[in-house]
Parts: sequence; C-alpha cells; structure tokens
Amino acid sequence: MAQYSLIIDGKKVDTQDYFDVLNPATEALVAQCPVAKQEHLDQAVAAAQKAFKTWSKVDMATRKQKINEVADKIEAHFDELAALITQEQGKPIQGFAGLGSGFEVGGCVAWCRYTTTLDLPVAVLQDDDECRVELHRKPLGVVGSITPWNWPLMIGIWHVIPAIMTGNTVVIKPSSMTPLSTIRFVELANEVLPAGVLNIVTGEGGLGRLITSHPGIQKIVFTGSTPTGKGIMKSAADTLKKVTLELGGNDAGIVLPDVDVNAIAPKIFATSFINSGQTCAALKRLYVHDSIYDDMCAALTQFAENVKMGNGMDDGIDFGPVQNRAQLDIVRELADAARADGGRFLVGGKAMSGPGYFYPLTLVADVTDGCRLVDEEQFGPILPIIKYSDIDEVIERSNNNPNGLGGSVWSNDIDKAKAIAARMECGSVWINGHALVKPHVPFGGVKDSGLGVEFGQIGLEEYTNVQAVHIEKA
Ligand code: NDP
Repeated sequence: MAQYSLIIDGKKVDTQDYFDVLNPATEALVAQCPVAKQEHLDQAVAAAQKAFKTWSKVDMATRKQKINEVADKIEAHFDELAALITQEQGKPIQGFAGLGSGFEVGGCVAWCRYTTTLDLPVAVLQDDDECRVELHRKPLGVVGSITPWNWPLMIGIWHVIPAIMTGNTVVIKPSSMTPLSTIRFVELANEVLPAGVLNIVTGEGGLGRLITSHPGIQKIVFTGSTPTGKGIMKSAADTLKKVTLELGGNDAGIVLPDVDVNAIAPKIFATSFINSGQTCAALKRLYVHDSIYDDMCAALTQFAENVKMGNGMDDGIDFGPVQNRAQLDIVRELADAARADGGRFLVGGKAMSGPGYFYPLTLVADVTDGCRLVDEEQFGPILPIIKYSDIDEVIERSNNNPNGLGGSVWSNDIDKAKAIAARMECGSVWINGHALVKPHVPFGGVKDSGLGVEFGQIGLEEYTNVQAVHIEKA
C-alpha cells in the first residue's frame, strides 16, 4: 500500500495518523495520506516564511526559469500523473473529446509555460518637473491554497504557479478525496525549487479552517463550494487576508432558434458532461427555443446513448464516475426532484449497480425554473433541458439565480448573441462555446460564484500588493 508524506521545507514529513484515498470507480483503497495537525501546519508556514525572505528577492527571470523546469518535470512524469488523477478522481485518461486526465496534465504544463510569459513591469503614473510616481508590484508573503476534487492537479497549478512566480511562497492543501497527484507534483517541484517555497499539508476536515485563520498566511486562494467559500472569507477576516474565491456555478446556455442543431449539439454535449459534469464552468442549465427544442433533445440523446462509462483506467472509456458518494447522493436527489416535478428522462436516470460511484449520463426534458435540478448546481452527469419562447424572458430566467460564473449564447447571428451576452450576469460569456477557460483570459465569478479572478495579467496581479513610490523633484 502506497503511503504518502507531507512535504515541508523540501523534506518528506510523516505523521502519526493516515486517511484512506479511494478509487471512485472501484471503491478500492488507492493509498494512504498523512493527517496533518496544527504543529505540521505551523512548521509548513514557518518554512514558507523563511523561504519567502530569499525567494521574494530572486529576480523574475530566475523564478520563470524554475517554473519552466517544474513544467519539464510534469512533462517527464506525464503518464504517472495522469494515472494518479484517474485513480483518485475517476476521469478517464483520454475521455470523451480528449478531455480526460491526459488533458488535465497537459493543461498543467500549458498553464506553467504561459504564466512565464507574463511580467510585472513598473508603471509610471506621473513623470514631470515636480515628481515621478512609480507603481511597483510586491509579493504578499505566504499564500494558502485550498483545492477541490474535480480537477485536482490543474486547479493546484492555477493557484501555485502565479503565486510563486510573483515571489510568494505557498502552503497547499488539496482535497482529502484527491490529494495524490498534488503531493506527487509538489515532490517533483521540490526537486527544482528551493526548500520551503512550496509545501503541502493533507488532512480531512478541520485542516482547511486552520489554514484560513493562520496568522502567518497573507492570502487564501480557494476553489470549491460557495458555502465553504463564505466560511473561508469569515475565517480570514480576523487576520485580514486577501482572498480569491472561485466558487460554484450554475451556468445557463441559451440556444437561439437560428442555430444548426446538429452542428452545435456535439459542443453542447461535451461542455455539459465534461468530467461527468463535475466542472465549475460546465453548462448546467440548457435553455432551448421551442421551435428547435425536440431536435436538440434528440441530438443530445443520440450522443448520450452512444458513450461508454466505466473505470477510467480501462481503454475506450468516455466518462468516469462521480468522484464521491456525497456528490452521487446530490445527483440522485436532484434527479428525484426532477422526476417529482414531471421531468421527462430522455436517457439515464436509473441507478447503476456498484461498485463505484457511477451515475449514467442523464438528460431531463420538460423541467423549468423552480425545479431543484434547474435552480441548484448538480455538479454531476445530469442536464436539464428547458424550453423557452421569449428571449427577454429567458435572459431574466438565466440571471434569476444566485450563481454568476459563466454562461453561453448559441446563435449564427453574432451581433444578436453579443447583445444577449451583455445582459447576462456572469464573469464569462461564451458565444457558440462554453467552459473554454484559457490561461491568458481572466476567469472568475460574480454574485455567489466568487471574488477576484485567476489567469492572465489581472490574475497574476492578485498575488501582489501595490507600492506607490513618489520621487519628489522640486
Ligand atoms: P468544499 O468546498 O467543501 O471543499 C473544497 C476544499 O475546501 C477541500 O480541500 C476541503 O477540504 C476544503 N474545506 C472544506 N471545508 C473547509 C473550511 N471550513 N475551511 C477551509 N477549507 C475547507 O467542496 P465539497 O468537496 O464539499 O463539494 C461540495 C460542493 O462544492 C459540490 O457539490 C459542488 O457543488 C461544489 N464544488 C465546486 C467546485 C468548483 O470547482 N467550483 C469544486 C468542487 C466542488 P477537505 O475536503 O479535505 O476537508
């Protein structure tokens, strides 16, 4: 049985207690991970504080070189990391449309490399006879990263790489359901980075709270559920930490009557069921104009009936299980709610026999707003397809939700689609696409979907404080 260790100050640290990590496709034990206590977190924060003193003074070019070396390490261990993700998270190595764990590891490399093309130049705000004012960007100190179980390694990279490139040091805590690929990544990164720059602690429940209230941490970057995000903000308040919160979504897609249904159905299908629907920015409520509603239902059903779900380590698997039992219960509950509300199950909707947390790809027609499956984030392989006839009304319905992560408009009339996009209350709107998250484009939610953004120049700047330097000339 593989037993993993914490990594603190460049060294493996073992603890007294361990927790089990299960394969969601088989419910078999994959490995055991250490339960970190307050003392381990204190050691990790102290190591990160010590490393910050030198790492923050290392020039940007050297830090970028180190990040590229980290990317080289990930590439060299591509197959190993992809297999670990599949075993702990469930997504297949290849997967439908190539969006499996191989895609996740490839995304990690791409994000590392792209981030090194960014810079933090000094901005000159004034330069005249009286004064020159320069705006400098400075690292914050120790960043605490808390990650979820859906894209465990990719989201870890999204947190860690901009943090360390801007001169911060990091203590990362992966989800207790999917810690393995992140621990392995931190081990590999520590072969390149100075000791203490990147530390990892693992544990179940409680450890996250210790991180968000720790006085030695200056910023929390968190991806996960909205209730936990709100708790983190409260917990971080006493020590006045900065927070970036990337929280849940219930993205609406609005399909206009002018589309070619067969041309867009593959994209809608892939973007709704990516990672078996366990993606923050997946399309989660599909609003289709009544003139093409039946055609769209038929086209999506054809896809759903012809894909293969199973253990992601096997060949030819398109979709994996739900990652954990609690999430599977949520999906079942929302399916039951839709059934009780008169939803028509086009495909799926029946429990699958175990082992594993499998739920079949499920399409539910004839439900509408007010049904829990429409109003709440399902975060699993079940999609409600909602009929509409009036565009103003459907925009209002799509906005009438506490979430505001992403949304999409599907139309051949780009001007019309842009006008609708402008009225949608969300951080990203895609036209004729969805969930297309890119390293150069800021990404974040409005309303209950979060605070702050990740990626691109603005995302990088979130890991810095500004310092205005006034040089008086007169
Ligand atoms: P959580 O938001 O509870 O967990 C995400 C991370 O936060 C994990 O590392 C978890 O640690 C940690 N955590 C939990 N409680 C606290 C706390 N009080 N303080 C600090 N950190 C904490 O997500 P769940 O796993 O419970 O999933 C619940 C729902 O979240 C899903 O149904 C889905 O809707 C949504 N979700 C959204 C994601 C996104 O990408 N936006 C990703 C995953 C889930 P640990 O689990 O180890 O205790």
